[in-house]
Amino acid sequence: MEKYVPDIYQKDIYSINYKTLSSRGIKLLIFDLDNTIALITEWNPSEKAIELFKDIKKNKFKVIIASNSVKQRVKLFADTLGVDYVSHVKKPKGLPIEEYIKKSKYNQSEIAMIGDSMMDDVVCGNRLGITTILTDQLGKREFPVAKIKRFKEKKIQKKLRDNNLFTKGRYYV
Ligand SMILES: [Mg+2]
Repeated sequence: MEKYVPDIYQKDIYSINYKTLSSRGIKLLIFDLDNTIALITEWNPSEKAIELFKDIKKNKFKVIIASNSVKQRVKLFADTLGVDYVSHVKKPKGLPIEEYIKKSKYNQSEIAMIGDSMMDDVVCGNRLGITTILTDQLGKREFPVAKIKRFKEKKIQKKLRDNNLFTKGRYYV
């Protein structure tokens, strides 16, 4: 069950304390896109997201968006936010992410994965041995594949709650 438990759990990407991450030695942030940065119906980052990413980059983080979504969509966001991206990453397996990390100069203790999916983002990050940060999903609407995973996630979250490993809405850093 531990593979589903994030190191940090926050309401959204705006609630994360990036200074704390920095003080813990995190240098590379790998963001999920859908329902983490934007709603699935949005095709442009919000002003709020643009401001946040400006701030994050000012604080010397290297930032990349890693999404299961198609290149066309991921590139739009990455370009506007001025960050790198990898698309079609097939989380939780996420081989393109693993390759990106291998090519980068960062070691596992310097990398954090941020996303709204326990099944995709947290499992992938834990498998890669990096810090995992779970956020609540931004919107209720999901792509069909995500919907199926969310159903499974709810069952797992019940088990986690019963075992005092994780409780939805009980945020921690
Ligand atoms: Mg997502």
